[in-house]
Amino acid sequence: MSLLVLASGNPDKTRELRRILAPLNVEVIPVTDPVPDWSVEETGITLEENAFIKARDAFEKTGIPAVADDTGLFVDVLGGAPGIYAARFAGADCSYEDNVRKLLRTMSGEKNRRACFRTAAAFVSETMEFSVPGEVGGVILERPDGTGGFGYDPVFLPDGMDKTFARCTAQEKDRISHRARSLRKLAEKLRVSGFGTG
Ligand code: IMP
Repeated sequence: MSLLVLASGNPDKTRELRRILAPLNVEVIPVTDPVPDWSVEETGITLEENAFIKARDAFEKTGIPAVADDTGLFVDVLGGAPGIYAARFAGADCSYEDNVRKLLRTMSGEKNRRACFRTAAAFVSETMEFSVPGEVGGVILERPDGTGGFGYDPVFLPDGMDKTFARCTAQEKDRISHRARSLRKLAEKLRVSGFGTG
């Protein structure tokens, strides 16, 4: 059994990574188990840089091989905004609802509603470092629909679905989401490298 630390204190992310890595002989723990006050400044200007910043920091502080992910929402008509700043679109310390309201206001009257979520998932250990992307396209609705999920889920209608992410079950979202796609690629690279097979 190999130990893997997730550079996040978010229990939903820990559960998701455990589901996706279930075929490997790996135990996933959140970095906040060994380092309760863990946090790191995300100073990168790409998703990949920020994912590496988090994974390297978690690895350095724990000595355990680390995984991190970073996600952005890229809206065509806004020239790719909010992009990597999706969490802080409506300002520092804003809520998910504030961000959704600002997005809908900014896109008010726009016909082109195309957008995509992109994730970079990074792995860092003593002997190996890599990152892998994941993406899902869709459209931003004109008003929220559904109460599940988090972030921009109530206004994001993914391609090929007839309901927003906020109306999807965790399993439905796992099948197509940006984050799950990148984490599945990460899991496959770990499997091929032999990590977690011992
Ligand atoms: P993070 O890098 O995973 O923390 O994501 C940054 C921000 O992107 C979050 O604060 C959310 O606003 C948004 N976000 C990330 N993933 C999702 C998702 O699956 N659905 C909706 N919003 C998301």
